Amino acid sequence: AHLDAIAAADGALNSYLHVDGEAALATAAEVDRRRAAGEELAPLAGVPVALKDVVVTDGVPTTSGSRILEGWRPPYDATVAARLKAAGTVLLGKTNMDEFAMGSSTENSAYGPTRNPWDHDRIPGGSSGGSSAAVAGFLAPWSIGTDTGGSIRQPAAVTGLVGHKPTYGSVSRYGLIAFSSSLDQAGPMARTVADAALMHEVIGGHDPRDSTSIEAPAAPYVEAARQGATGDLSGMTVGVVRELGGEGHTDGYEAGVLDAFRAGVDQLRALGAEVREVSCPSFDLALAAYYLIAPSEASSNLSRFDGVRYGLRVGDDGSRDLDEVMAMTRAQGFGPEVKRRIMLGTYALSAGYYDAYYGQAQKVRTLIAGDFARSFGDVDVLVSPTSPIVAFPLGQRVDDPLAMYAADLCTLPASLAGLPAISVPCGLSEGLPVGLQVMAPAMADDRCYRVAAGLE
Ligand code: GLN
Repeated sequence: AHLDAIAAADGALNSYLHVDGEAALATAAEVDRRRAAGEELAPLAGVPVALKDVVVTDGVPTTSGSRILEGWRPPYDATVAARLKAAGTVLLGKTNMDEFAMGSSTENSAYGPTRNPWDHDRIPGGSSGGSSAAVAGFLAPWSIGTDTGGSIRQPAAVTGLVGHKPTYGSVSRYGLIAFSSSLDQAGPMARTVADAALMHEVIGGHDPRDSTSIEAPAAPYVEAARQGATGDLSGMTVGVVRELGGEGHTDGYEAGVLDAFRAGVDQLRALGAEVREVSCPSFDLALAAYYLIAPSEASSNLSRFDGVRYGLRVGDDGSRDLDEVMAMTRAQGFGPEVKRRIMLGTYALSAGYYDAYYGQAQKVRTLIAGDFARSFGDVDVLVSPTSPIVAFPLGQRVDDPLAMYAADLCTLPASLAGLPAISVPCGLSEGLPVGLQVMAPAMADDRCYRVAAGLE
């Protein structure tokens, strides 16, 4: 049924970069055969899934949304892909994304933009916009996204989905094509909180192949969602972050987004939560710090794309030396946003500027973590809008990087502090979905699921 839906609707949406219907049907048929034979099945046997194309998949094309990886078929599975496979899920395909996960609209994909199922003239968010559009458009029941500065939460918010960015280190990064290694996390995108919690339990937990993986088992997220779904949040204290859309901090926020967010907060109060305002002054600096740290790490990570090891190679006709081939490959293989980030990051890391830019941004990162730590002394979770704006029209911000970066205003603090954060629908503004973000202390992802399920 999902393959039929993809055939019918994805010509317009462009949410998938690769669909292998034959392989999916063969896996599904194998599940049927085993069920008929009375064999024991894996817990999610036969459940379809879509993976963001940044997730390395054995033998299946993986591009990270870039020309430079066109045609590359990895020889192994990312841990996230392997765990979903072991749980019995059926891979429908790989979803579109901003090139190397750099963007907030999926317009930076080398393979054309994805459209929002709610309004085809609007963006589905980014960088996991293929993953959000596929699920919102019923072309997959759920999907994997990745989030470096908001790329699970913001696309979930603008397509009416639930999207959770796990605690940094709690889901393996092994086999995710690296953008900014100190920030990257994979996580679930789904239509319900319970689905997201279930997928998180499958993909989470320690992985010795990721040096930053936390040595703790995956927590009972489904149980937390079940508790929240009872509609009783009494005993929980919720902090509303003033700097993210509160009084004196509404610049750049749409009025309809703030209305829907405040209605969501009222609902949390009605469920018995105690609500207070909390101030986190250094959150105002998150955008500036993130757009130094993430490009710096990207400039280092992307140096592996040299025209020799993977994918595209340009100009290799015997008349040029290695440097020329590398330069030509990168010139053609990387899009404008990727080049902009490499230049920004290389500059920020260069001798003479390192302390002034990268070093300073790292200090701000510590201040942000401090604001969170102080707040979590008083409250159990923090809330904010997920995105200051609803899905904007395609093309509106693509030539204005700063306006595009502003879409990440609310999601960046939790990213920089490595904390778990979920986006859950909290209403509509002018007929388009609005998301409410719930942030929690490290390894307290269960609180995100509990509060989100209460709101759902
Ligand atoms: N929009 C942000 C960026 O462009 C975040 C992207 C992400 O989380 N992958 O960097």
